[in-house]
Amino acid sequence: MLTKVIEQANIDHFAKWLDRADKMVIVSHVGPDGDAIGSSLGLWHFLNSQDKTANVIVPNAFPDFLRWMPGSKDILQYDRYKEFADKLIAEADVICCLDFNALSRIDAMAEAVKNSPARKILIDHHLHPEDFCKIVISHPEISSTSELVFRLICRMGYFSDITKQGAECIYTGMMTDTGGFTYNSNNREIYFIISELLSKGIDKDAIYRKVFNTYSESRLRLMGHVLTQMKVYPEYHAAMISLTEKEQKQFNYIRGDSEGFVNIPLSIKNVIFSCFLREDTEKPMIKISLRSVGKFPCNQLAAEFFGGGGHLNASGGEFYGTMEEAQKVFEQALEKYKPLLTAKG
Ligand code: 5GP
Ligand code: MN
Repeated sequence: MLTKVIEQANIDHFAKWLDRADKMVIVSHVGPDGDAIGSSLGLWHFLNSQDKTANVIVPNAFPDFLRWMPGSKDILQYDRYKEFADKLIAEADVICCLDFNALSRIDAMAEAVKNSPARKILIDHHLHPEDFCKIVISHPEISSTSELVFRLICRMGYFSDITKQGAECIYTGMMTDTGGFTYNSNNREIYFIISELLSKGIDKDAIYRKVFNTYSESRLRLMGHVLTQMKVYPEYHAAMISLTEKEQKQFNYIRGDSEGFVNIPLSIKNVIFSCFLREDTEKPMIKISLRSVGKFPCNQLAAEFFGGGGHLNASGGEFYGTMEEAQKVFEQALEKYKPLLTAKG
């Protein structure tokens, strides 16, 4: 059985909105990942089952390895269909904000969402949610927004309305935000939920293959290249990998090709902190991705050195400057955080 994570008042409040709403819009963060798309489509399938007019809108493109997901073809990309999306957002009865905690995380969509008279609900698991939604379902202790969507639907009494397609989306989000249940995945209720999703007929093994084993040859070669260049800092229990724009061209890089790279250095014995620096092709900046295992707070380091944030074990930020400068700043950060990086236990 599941414990009641979401407060009853929030369940009742949203159930009331659901009763009255017809036009519903679901939005998620820029650079949508498996959990952003999984939770959005999981909720979308449910809203369809309740005969709502529902639309999922994301700021920009999502990776190819999520395109198999049922409903993904109906996702609206804001950077392509701004006018239509603006209309949907302005005319919505309810806007569901999924898997982000601040309006800045939806980029160019922020204004439209902020100015819409729609009722707004936040369903998210990032720390410190900003105050822009009437209902705030924020649970950083839960490993994915998709799990929260499952819990919300069930608590409203609609488990039986979850379809196989909806279950596939929810499962995908739970799986990707835990690295295939290898981190943030010790809560035993996760496995109860998986069992419930399996009862809907999902093939979890096939989903794993569709998401993680559909690499292009160029992605795998890029991975090999990046790992060859990897820098390991044994005295800091850390490692760094990087990818310049030039290297991206050399390996026919397309969006999503470096997804997950940042986790690889953590498979080295004694490395507990990993950094991935990628030259952005749209903005003049270096995108920083950080991952840690155990107690090392990479969100604190991201905030202090790269104007970013995120979770304890997965965070990111941005750096405006050259790759060499970004690497220097990273090395300064290592020095500053050396006591925490080398702490026992
Ligand atoms: P990723 O490395 O997958 O891009 O990001 C991991 C996590 O770090 C995200 O889920 C998000 O919480 C956080 N994050 C990434 N980039 C930024 C950023 O620029 N600013 C903030 N505040 N958080 C970020
Ligand atoms: Mn998430």
